[in-house]
Amino acid sequence: MKKFAISACLLGEKCRYDASDNKDEHLLSQLKDAELIPFCPEDHAFGTPRPTMDLVVTQEGIRALSNKDGEDLSDPILEYAAAFFDTHQALDLLIGKDRSPSCGVCSARLYDEEKQLLSDKEAGLMAKEAKKRHIRCVDAEKFKGFI
Ligand code: SF4
Repeated sequence: MKKFAISACLLGEKCRYDASDNKDEHLLSQLKDAELIPFCPEDHAFGTPRPTMDLVVTQEGIRALSNKDGEDLSDPILEYAAAFFDTHQALDLLIGKDRSPSCGVCSARLYDEEKQLLSDKEAGLMAKEAKKRHIRCVDAEKFKGFI
């Protein structure tokens, strides 16, 4: 059986910043034969509900900054990602929620420090860690036909 890591909100967990979910029945109907391993770095690190964050180019590189007070929230996300991938080896695929600054694979928005949009094709911090480890990754909205 194939082993897929997947953003928990896509499975229906109410772990989004506003305690809603992104349940995707169509996607889930295509995953019946796979073992699904859910993850949510933001819920783990900050709880739910929580303030939103954006990816910003800073002097320290691309970081996730709180939209409430500008706090750099990156480290707890990166620590969760490292521990998750250390624990769950031999993943066949990661399916990330598109556009998330944590889970988006090729679809997260990136801003400069003046909040000007630089790109909408970035990897979120968790997806970036997966790519660093050479794990195949896809945005949920691009999954159709990927496997
Ligand atoms: S996109 Fe990622 S961080 Fe955001 S709610 Fe879904 S699983 Fe959690």
